[in-house]
Amino acid sequence: MAGASVKVAVRVRPFNSREIGKESKCIIQMSGNTTTILNPKQPKENKSFNFDFSYWSHTTPEDINYASQMQVYKDIGEEMLLHAFEGYNVCIFAYGQTGAGKSYTMMGRQEKDQQGIIPLLCEDLFTKINDSNNDNSMSYSVEVSYMEIYCERVRDLLNPKNKGNLRVREHPLMGPYVEDLSKLAVTSYNDIQDLMDSGNKARTVAATNMNETSSRSHAVFNIIFTQKKHDMETENTSEKVLTKGVGGGDGVFEGANINKSLTTLGKVISALAELNKKKKKVESFIPYRDSVLTWLLRENLGGNSRTAMVAALSPADINYDETLSTLRYADRAK
Ligand code: ADP
Repeated sequence: MAGASVKVAVRVRPFNSREIGKESKCIIQMSGNTTTILNPKQPKENKSFNFDFSYWSHTTPEDINYASQMQVYKDIGEEMLLHAFEGYNVCIFAYGQTGAGKSYTMMGRQEKDQQGIIPLLCEDLFTKINDSNNDNSMSYSVEVSYMEIYCERVRDLLNPKNKGNLRVREHPLMGPYVEDLSKLAVTSYNDIQDLMDSGNKARTVAATNMNETSSRSHAVFNIIFTQKKHDMETENTSEKVLTKGVGGGDGVFEGANINKSLTTLGKVISALAELNKKKKKVESFIPYRDSVLTWLLRENLGGNSRTAMVAALSPADINYDETLSTLRYADRAK
């Protein structure tokens, strides 16, 4: 059965020094849920899109569309975490040009109030687990994996010594998975933070060794959250496995250089959106198999799942083409 439609947010970051140096003009306007992009070459031409959330960041907090990291988490992360506890597969991903704010939104920075969706969600996850520790009928476990998909190949970011590419296989019941990918048990938010930090270092090292890594690499951080309910009377144990595929991919549009994973992800998400609109109950033509990223996220995108996407945007006129592409991509996901 098709999942509910994707929650889509767009977030414009502040100007960076390069844009300020070039005296770039702001071409994004936001009002309520509507985001408008102005064509710098044809000032009368503008295009408007409606999304679930439109986040502004380069003015003051008084601005009505201004959103702090916590606000973004409250709108998107918190709801997805509730869905995870309800038993859905949850997927949150960020999309947009390099430097548009994907890592900032997903991971954020270490300083106070600067943490992104993943750390805030993990913190809440463990708070909820600890809060329910006095309920003897429930037990929980959390494991994480972290991988990078580069040119359709999968690397283990939690075990960088394992330099080889890992094989993608299919389990008859559980679906697609990566063979030999490290899956590490964690018992606190700090455990996750440490693993994420070392995984990110593994990414950066790779990036300096390979040309254009950042533009074609996708990072997928998975949280495997298992809830077990123990029925005291019947001694039965039922188990729910909830996977959260959280992608912080660095996808970019570069003319003809659009990579396969992102093109396919776009196709899959808009096909799922169509399916959802038509309320069809079959998923026969969703092209998951056309890329490694979508194949591995199959259970997180379709089926028993809830998905949220944040499209990251630059405010500057010099990025008009990429920003318009990102907005169109986000628009197709609704
Ligand atoms: P990406 O992951 O898309 O390549 P980053 O997240 O690394 O881009 O963002 C590029 C720079 O802009 C970083 O220095 C980041 O801290 C900053 N930045 C991005 N989005 C925001 C935002 N909403 N508010 C403040 N700074 C931001």
